[in-house]
Amino acid sequence: MFKIGCHLSSSKGYNHMAEETVSIGGNTFQFFTRNPRGGAAKPIDPADVELYRKTAAESGISEIIAHAPYTMNPCAATEALREFSLNTMTDDLARLSLTPGALYNFHPGSHVGQGTDAAIELIAELLGKLLAADSENSTPVLLETMAGKGSEVGSKFEELRRIIDLTGGTSRLGVCLDTCHVYDAGYDIVNDLDGVLEEFDRVIGLDRLKAVHLNDSKNPFCSHKDRHEKIGQGSIGTEAFARIVNHPVLRDLPFCLETPHEDISGYAGEIALLKSLRKE
Ligand SMILES: [Zn+2]
Ligand SMILES: [Zn+2]
Repeated sequence: MFKIGCHLSSSKGYNHMAEETVSIGGNTFQFFTRNPRGGAAKPIDPADVELYRKTAAESGISEIIAHAPYTMNPCAATEALREFSLNTMTDDLARLSLTPGALYNFHPGSHVGQGTDAAIELIAELLGKLLAADSENSTPVLLETMAGKGSEVGSKFEELRRIIDLTGGTSRLGVCLDTCHVYDAGYDIVNDLDGVLEEFDRVIGLDRLKAVHLNDSKNPFCSHKDRHEKIGQGSIGTEAFARIVNHPVLRDLPFCLETPHEDISGYAGEIALLKSLRKE
């Protein structure tokens, strides 16, 4: 099945997101676990979750992506800021144990002058604590591939591999591949998608690849900028996306749009476009 959807606002709850997804022709979605600028998460409403489970089962929604707030930094320079990230992620995972099929995606963070090696150790240390605190649950935790803007960690597959290795290689850790980010980072998914996926397999292992963020890029190849564009209107282009959604190693993963639109009708058009590119 083609699992396709987009990032949605979680302000009206889970069932509302499921209904919006159905209304735009999707069957998966992503949401922020809390305001991306930080702050407390809204309490989970058990009645909403109950209703959501029913809607999801009826409409074929089997996997969803919960995105951690992107302003937290798991490899921040101060203990207090890293503690804040750990507490936020621990609370997120406890809440996600209530929603079946959730994948928890986060940005590895920015080394803010400490250097990539030190940051990788801090991220692994945090993940070790996080997974120990959440050992009763099984929600997969995904490191997102990054564009390499500023001092971002995770723009090279090798960096993600080292974080996973330092966390003991646990099977709970996976990767979410963001098309805009990898293209900005210097992986040429336009001219050599096979080669990039072979490299991913050699360095990280394709068994770790759990989800794809579908975004075109406003900037040229290897620009390290991270500016998402609508599908087909950026430097990646429609033909490359046709190859991406049909590639044998990607086609069964959940694909989630994070493209710039004023309202969800824009996503309906993009989902229809991607469905038209998909070969069954
Ligand atoms: Zn992200
Ligand atoms: Zn992304």
